[in-house]
Amino acid sequence: MKNTFSKTLLGSALALALPATTALANGSDIERVIVKFKDGSGPSIQSLVRSSGGRIERDLSANHGAFAISIPQHALRGLENNPNVEYVEEDVRRQLLSTEQVPYGIPMVQADQLSDSMAGNRTVCIIDSGYEAIHEDLSANNVLGTNDSGTGNWYEDQNGHGTHVAGTIAGIANTVGVVGVMPNTNVNLHIVKVFNADGWGYSSSLVAALDVCEANGANVINMSLGGSRASRTEENAFTNAYGRGVLSIAAAGNDGNTRHSYPASYDAVMSVAAIDETKTIASFSQQTDQVEIAAPGVGVVSSVPTGTGLSTTFTANGTGYESAAMEGAPQGTVTSSLADCGLGDSACVGASGQICLIERGVISFAEKVQACEAGGGIGAVIFNNEPGMLYGTMGEVATSIPSIGISQADGQALVGSGANATVSIAADNYAPFDGTSMATPHVAGVAALVWSHHTACAAGEVRNALNVTAEDLGAAGRDNAYGNGLVQALAAHEYLLANPCTGDNGGGDNGGGDNSCKGGPRKCG
Ligand code: CA
Repeated sequence: MKNTFSKTLLGSALALALPATTALANGSDIERVIVKFKDGSGPSIQSLVRSSGGRIERDLSANHGAFAISIPQHALRGLENNPNVEYVEEDVRRQLLSTEQVPYGIPMVQADQLSDSMAGNRTVCIIDSGYEAIHEDLSANNVLGTNDSGTGNWYEDQNGHGTHVAGTIAGIANTVGVVGVMPNTNVNLHIVKVFNADGWGYSSSLVAALDVCEANGANVINMSLGGSRASRTEENAFTNAYGRGVLSIAAAGNDGNTRHSYPASYDAVMSVAAIDETKTIASFSQQTDQVEIAAPGVGVVSSVPTGTGLSTTFTANGTGYESAAMEGAPQGTVTSSLADCGLGDSACVGASGQICLIERGVISFAEKVQACEAGGGIGAVIFNNEPGMLYGTMGEVATSIPSIGISQADGQALVGSGANATVSIAADNYAPFDGTSMATPHVAGVAALVWSHHTACAAGEVRNALNVTAEDLGAAGRDNAYGNGLVQALAAHEYLLANPCTGDNGGGDNGGGDNSCKGGPRKCG
């Protein structure tokens, strides 16, 4: 009969409504229960509840002969033993049966621990491929945008990249899809569409986009983009914007090498590395002395233009498992028993009419699926050979059966089970993407979220708070893979509570600030 609500919460709510009884003052456990009483004894039960220091929470007496009440635990026994009481039972919780998913990155960056109720005082500018404004998880946001000549309407997204980035920043808490770092439609978004379906533009377009962001009140700029060559014009523009109070955040790059990517590698811009669900650096994340901070960027599920994503379902013996469609795999639904196909490096003999269960190895995922097809398999489930989920692709290879990835742990548990399984891949409005592009909006979102609670801070002070409170990963202290580590919203907020900004940023200059956490041998803090 232990109450599912916290004692403090319920206790303080009661204290507001009632004179403080001895029981409440002593902090006794309060129980929320339903009391079913015998016909005609409602009034006497009502006064008994009140004299016991409880209160009626909901009156169900007219139709159900019962009250929902809150009552000190020590008074329960007396109530249960009262001759007019038929029974007492816990008033158990009911909740929305939501199919909304909280992507792993949201709690990993502590976005779920800091309210976005203040975020209406911040504007995040997203320079990308547009924003599908009709998307079910984005349409209710406070969003404006600017068209760039040659790329079309900002509120449409022919590429999908910008809509995915936006969902990580501000996917709405609405029982469908996903949630972003700031899910309650408070933050202001400004969209500048610089990319069309091809996904490239000029540095001059980026500089012009920066100007548009500033003109529209941007505090934070998200740039999930970059290129290998620096531009003096860009560098000056970002340095000047930073000095005027704009915090620019960009992707470190996906080439898996040690080269700088720009704009991320300008001193005035935060460079963001990508880590996976186990907080390990992604193999593609560029490692340089400019990498400043890290965030989730592998298998990040977010919004994509309506109908362009894929949802996958995998169940075995009635239990659902996390799964991800192989990129490029055909849609479809199949149900049959699981056939063990080992590493799937030769035709899976005996898999005819069954779903192949295959371990990840050294050959391509497409070859494993082909080995399944060669054995007559109707679907393929490939499990990881290291901890975590498997996200894979068929590359350019055409395959004819639905194929998915699952985690190592789930795959190993199913080997030899012959379980009856269903694999389904269908069109959806969400998709998992990989990239430092996906890590960047986690940091941009957290920067705006934290900043919304500390508006006296300059851009450099918010930046410093994010860096000194990041969860150190990899080599102790700052390193070229993870920078200062995993961005942490709550820790940064608490740091700024303990070290409040004065709003005196040098004669009204709201930018710049200490840049000592950027690169170099110095340890932040
Ligand atoms: Ca949602």
